Amino acid sequence: MPAMNSPPSSGKRARLLSGMRPTGKLHLGNYHGALRNWVALQDTHEGFFFVADWHALTTDYADTSLLQKNQHEMVVDFLAAGLDPERSTIFVQSHVPGHAELHVLLSMITPLSWLERVPTYKDQQEQLKEKDLATYGFLGYPLLQTADILIYRPDFIPVGEDQVAHVEITREIARRFNHIFGRDEKFGAKVKAAQKKMDGAQREGYVTCRQGYQERGEQKLLTEGRALVAAAFRLDDSERELLLANLEGEHHRLLPAPDALLTPTPKVLGLDGRKMSKSYGNTIGLTEEPASITRKVRGMTTDPARVRRTDPGNPEKCPVWDLHKLYSSDETRAWVAEGCTSAGIGCLECKQPVIDRICADSATMRDRAAPYLANPGRVNEILAAGAVKANIAAEETMQAVRGAMNLARGVSP
Ligand code: SF4
Repeated sequence: MPAMNSPPSSGKRARLLSGMRPTGKLHLGNYHGALRNWVALQDTHEGFFFVADWHALTTDYADTSLLQKNQHEMVVDFLAAGLDPERSTIFVQSHVPGHAELHVLLSMITPLSWLERVPTYKDQQEQLKEKDLATYGFLGYPLLQTADILIYRPDFIPVGEDQVAHVEITREIARRFNHIFGRDEKFGAKVKAAQKKMDGAQREGYVTCRQGYQERGEQKLLTEGRALVAAAFRLDDSERELLLANLEGEHHRLLPAPDALLTPTPKVLGLDGRKMSKSYGNTIGLTEEPASITRKVRGMTTDPARVRRTDPGNPEKCPVWDLHKLYSSDETRAWVAEGCTSAGIGCLECKQPVIDRICADSATMRDRAAPYLANPGRVNEILAAGAVKANIAAEETMQAVRGAMNLARGVSP
């Protein structure tokens, strides 16, 4: 596994990319599982965040009537949660045709067995029996995901611990592509020339780190080597890329393989104690009104052993406790733990601090959403501006890819 949270490949803010299928209005599970991290990371990273509309078709191709509506509502919720279009690039996947072009090109070099062994391929076929998943689109979705990622040459992909393996197929495909199309006769000479631009101590450190990492696979040395490259201010971006490729033992990095950036993805249970999900009808919306939040949380499942007010309970067996972990202070949690186990407090009493916090957050989010609900055209403007920025970044990669594959336009034989 690559080193986590290593420094960016240059002096610039590290780039990260993440996307979400257009499911309409978002709920607290979406927020705590992904969106909240995006909002936090946009302060320190160059974020590219997209609506994965083509991915929605991989499992639901027959009825596309709600696609636009769902997309619009979801982007309003992105903005309501605090994603800032001035700092982050927010766009729709299908507005950047390069994703499809790179997907086709990568499909030429990807062994079928790599896609068939992706764990979610079989799992989802089992779980979603009512859907037609016997399509190329469904088998190829990890490859589309790979194209979505590699086209922006991001440094990081934010993922929860259980999704780290998903980034691995992207890294494998990038390595295979670089191996086939990244050959450069002058690579060695270019590395030497770039090393000369480092000062003496940096160069020595770089060589030691490279040797140690390649011989013993020590992640610490990879991180240190990357830091030395990032700190060598006389290098330009392409020289940094070259030295990073050389550090990792790759011949060339046409498509740099991003690292997984581990982000917190706390468990968010729904009203019935199962995972919060629209398909279970057990969600609390991000911008829901206080009356509805109050009604839902008051009716939420609790520890089944607490039948009467006088029965002591166990917070670990109660989904409300997971909400306390997300929303309450240490002091409140101590009050819950004591009051629940001693039957000193009732469940409605216990739920009130959570209700108050969710209502306060949703009021802030409704305020942020209001201008976009009043003027839906503003959302389209944000997506159009995001598409321009995304297309520029994507085209930069595609030019290098087309060149390497002898597909560049306007080149004489
Ligand atoms: S007191 Fe709170 S933690 Fe305990 S069972 Fe009731 S709702 Fe759950």
